[in-house]
Amino acid sequence: MTQQDASSEVKGLIYNIQRYSTEDGPGLRTTVFFKGCPLRCLWCSNPESISHKPQMMFFPQTCVQCYACLEACPKGANKKMEDGSVVVDRTICQNCGACIDVCPANARQMSGKWMTADEVFEVIKKDSVYYTNSDGGVTFSGGECTAQADFLIELIDKCYNMGFHTCVDTCGFASWEVLEKVLSKVDMVLFDIKHMDPEKHKEITGVDNQLILENAGKIKNMGIEMHIRFPMIPGYNDDEKNLKALGRFMKLWGLDKIDILPYHRMGSNKYEALGQRYFLGDLPSLERENVKKAVNILESYDLEVDVV
Ligand code: SF4
Ligand code: SF4
Repeated sequence: MTQQDASSEVKGLIYNIQRYSTEDGPGLRTTVFFKGCPLRCLWCSNPESISHKPQMMFFPQTCVQCYACLEACPKGANKKMEDGSVVVDRTICQNCGACIDVCPANARQMSGKWMTADEVFEVIKKDSVYYTNSDGGVTFSGGECTAQADFLIELIDKCYNMGFHTCVDTCGFASWEVLEKVLSKVDMVLFDIKHMDPEKHKEITGVDNQLILENAGKIKNMGIEMHIRFPMIPGYNDDEKNLKALGRFMKLWGLDKIDILPYHRMGSNKYEALGQRYFLGDLPSLERENVKKAVNILESYDLEVDVV
């Protein structure tokens, strides 16, 4: 999903560009986060990445109750409650952003900005010297970056022409036609596998895993360096049966590197900021012992396991 303006320039919806990132591939990297994702993972720590549209986020803890946003909103979506607090009526809010400009406390932010590939590349280029010196490069993440394939390909081409190492971080839920095109000039893929059982995968992400697993094998056959990423969620996918099935699948396809991403609750306040419910609110953090057990199980399939 991309946008075209009157000059026919393709624009992409980006919600963050993180410089000096060390967790999204080798070396020092710039990670470009695309907004919009076809999955609905229950634990998602970036809920603002899911919608394919810009969204106004309201952080009530930061509000100083000046009430400037009540006046500024053309829809009357901001309400003063009896206790003086401010709430946003999400059934009325149009995510226009008019309230952001008047807020003196930075309690409101827009997630998602339509940008041209040149605008994004201007940011990427700034750190080219770090990419060279650290064997780093550029990672395209999300959301799901392949959901804005034309825009992504334009950015990959620009990086390719400059000789920057590129990495695509994907949930794998995309047509093969799109993935093959996107990955033709990419150096590395970070590929999420969330559950090996199709029904359970659907329960926790909203989609079946068949296409994802097929795509994992096809990408491996392209010969691109590939790391599997496994978000480990207590009580949802950390059982021995699932870990063994994952180990067997990786061994079968000759996939040998896996990063475990242990569950954390760092994104929970963003759900409130978007006026959404966080379904895993009561879920306790992962026990270190259980992460160790998972590492041992996966290592028994001769996999190189990292905990990120
Ligand atoms: S984003 Fe626009 S519609 Fe929504 S509360 Fe702010 S001013 Fe009102
Ligand atoms: S403008 Fe900002 S600080 Fe003022 S009431 Fe609205 S959210 Fe709170």
